Amino acid sequence: MDKIVVSACLLGARVRHDGGHKRVDSDLLARWRDEGRLLPICPEEAGGLSTPRPAAERQGARVIARTGADVTAEFEKGADAALALAAAHQCRYALLKEASPSCGSSLIHDGKFQGRKIAGEGVTAAVLRAAGLAVFSEKEIEALGALLDQ
Ligand code: SF4
Repeated sequence: MDKIVVSACLLGARVRHDGGHKRVDSDLLARWRDEGRLLPICPEEAGGLSTPRPAAERQGARVIARTGADVTAEFEKGADAALALAAAHQCRYALLKEASPSCGSSLIHDGKFQGRKIAGEGVTAAVLRAAGLAVFSEKEIEALGALLDQ
């Protein structure tokens, strides 16, 4: 049965930088949870960052917190943890929160902390894609569902 790496915040875990979550109410997601398909992870927590934490944005190859701290190493460590989780379960799919500097699959913030989104991908989304996983956002749950085995 196909497994899916999932951003933990989409399942209601309070792991976001502001201490909140981004729970998605979806019958498909609930079914996958009941089937044991879901592999939840918050890459930023897995990379060693605490919650709450300062917002961070990609600036080219680096990830910089609003405080000015360089958190690239923590983001990369979290991406590696997500990849290891996927590999341990022969997982080929990921469902990740859009526009996050870790999990964004087609959008990220522009690096200037002004609320503007641009085309791009988060650190974890990029690492998973490079390893061959198909990465979807929470707006693409139906499309992901069409690819899964039954
Ligand atoms: Fe959600 Fe990913 Fe951000 Fe963690 S790193 S809070 S899983 S979007």
